[in-house]
Amino acid sequence: MTTFQDLGLSQKVLNAVTDAGYSIPTPIQEGAIPFALQRRDILGIAQTGTGKTASFVLPMLTLLEKGRARARMPRTLILEPTRELAAQVAENFEKYGKNHKLNVALLIGGVSFDEQDRKLERGADVLICTPGRLLDHCERGKLLMTGVEILVIDEADRMLDMGFIPDIERIAKMIPFTRQTLFFSATMPPEIQKLADAFLQNPQRIEVAKPSTTAKTVTQRLVASHGQDYEKRATLRDLLRAEEANIKNAIIFCNRKKDVADLFRSLDRHGFQVGALHGDMDQRSRTTMLQNFRDGNLKILVASDVAARGLDIPDVSHVFNFDVPIHAEDYVHRIGRTGRAGRLGAAYMIITRRDSKHLDAIQKLIGEDIEWHAGDLTALPEREESEDGGRRDRRSSGKGGRERDRDRGRKGSDRGNRREGASLHKIDTADDVETSPRERVEATESEMPRAAQASKKPEASRHERRPHSPANDDNRRRDNRRYHQNDDGPTPVGFGDDVPAFMLTSAALK
Ligand code: AMP
Repeated sequence: MTTFQDLGLSQKVLNAVTDAGYSIPTPIQEGAIPFALQRRDILGIAQTGTGKTASFVLPMLTLLEKGRARARMPRTLILEPTRELAAQVAENFEKYGKNHKLNVALLIGGVSFDEQDRKLERGADVLICTPGRLLDHCERGKLLMTGVEILVIDEADRMLDMGFIPDIERIAKMIPFTRQTLFFSATMPPEIQKLADAFLQNPQRIEVAKPSTTAKTVTQRLVASHGQDYEKRATLRDLLRAEEANIKNAIIFCNRKKDVADLFRSLDRHGFQVGALHGDMDQRSRTTMLQNFRDGNLKILVASDVAARGLDIPDVSHVFNFDVPIHAEDYVHRIGRTGRAGRLGAAYMIITRRDSKHLDAIQKLIGEDIEWHAGDLTALPEREESEDGGRRDRRSSGKGGRERDRDRGRKGSDRGNRREGASLHKIDTADDVETSPRERVEATESEMPRAAQASKKPEASRHERRPHSPANDDNRRRDNRRYHQNDDGPTPVGFGDDVPAFMLTSAALK
C-alpha cells in the first residue's frame, strides 16, 4: 500500500499531513503528487470530496520550499470559481503549510483592495483568486504575473458553467508558458477538453471517479409533495421533524437564491436552528455562516448550488433537495456533501408533479431509480380547501393562507419585524426578472465573468429596471461591475446591516 512517505513530499509537509491525521493518500493524491513534484502538467478528473485540494497543495508546498517571493510577483497562482472554494484552499495552505513560512494571499471580492495590496506588496508565494478579482488587481497595475511558476485551474467545469473561461484565457496569457499547470475538473465536456489541450503540455491524466456516480453509503429517497412553495415547505418540515433524531447536520438545497432566503426565513420562524448561504451575502457573513455550520453551532444550512459547491464539510449526515436540480449533475454534486469517506448519509428530494422531466434526467445519469419515501405522487393526501393552487405564493410573500396569517400575527414582535424588514427582501428583487432558473442562479450567485458584464447578459437585467438615461450608461456599467465583481459597492447585499446575531461569532478565517 502506498503511503504519503512514498510520494516524494518534503519532511515539513509530511509532518503536517501526519498532524492532520491522514495515513493513506487518496487515489487522486497518489496519482497526482509524484508527477506534480516532477513539475509535470496534470489533468486531474476528480470531484470535491476526493482529496483533490491536497493533491495540489501538498506538492506546491514542497516545491515552494526553494526560492522566495518578490514584491508584486506571485510565484504560484490558484484560480477558483467561487469565494468559498478560494477560502477553503487558503485554509488548506494554513493547515498543511503550518511548518512553512509562506505568504499566502487570498484575492476575492468583498474584501478591501488595500488589505490585499499590502499582501501583494510583501510578495506572495501563493495567490488564490477568483478570476474577476485577479483581473481587477492586474488592471490596477499592482500585480506582475511573469514570475508565476505554477498555475492551478480548479473546478474547470464549474468555471465553464459560470462563463469564466474567457477570463481564464486572458489570465493564462499573462503567465509564462514555461509554467507548470495543474488542471482539475469533475467532468470533461468537449469545451473543457479543448481548454485542457490548449493549457497543458504533455499532461499526466489522473481520473478517480466518474461524475455520475453517487456514493454507495448514501440512502437516497424521493418525497412526494404538492407543488406550491408553502406546501413544499410544509413537506420539508414534516420530513425534518420525522428525521430529527438521525440528523446530525443537514444542507438543504434550493435552485434559486430567493428560495434560499424564503426557506431560511420560514424554517427560522418555525424554530429550526438554521442558517443560509447564497452568493449575495457579503464575504464576512458567508465565512462566518460556514464556520458556524462546520463548528456545529448551526444544524441546518439552506444553500444554493453555486454557494455550496465544493464546501469542505466532512460529515454532513443529511442532504435535502428542496428543489429538484435543473441540471442532473448538480444532483450528484449536492448529494456528494454526504456519505463522504465511507460514512453513512441520507439524501431526500422533494418531488412535485412538475418535476418529472428533471427527475428522469437525474435517474438516467445515476443509472438507477430512486425509491420513494412513504409513497409516490399518487399517494399524496387531498389538498385542503384554502390551497387554491393560485400563484400567490410566488408573487406575494411566498406563503399560503395559513402560514401568511400566522406570520401576520407575529409581525408585532421584534423578531418578526427584523426578519420581515428590508434586509432579506433586498435580495429578492432580481428574482422577479424573467430569466431561466439557471440564468437566475448564475446571474446572482457568482462573481460575474467579464464577458458577461460586457454583454450585460444576464446579470444586467436587474439593473435595467432602474430609470434609464443614455448619458448614465457608462456609470451604470461601472456600477454593475462593482456590484457583481467586488460586492464592495454601496448596494446592500445579503443580510446588509441586519446580520443575525448567531452569525456574529468570530470566524477562523482572516
Ligand atoms: P477535497 O476533495 O479536497 O475537498 O477533500 C475532501 C476532504 O477529505 C477534506 O475534508 C480533507 O481534509 C479530507 N482529506 C484529504 N486528504 C485526505 C486523506 N489522505 N485521508 C483522509 N482525508 C483526507
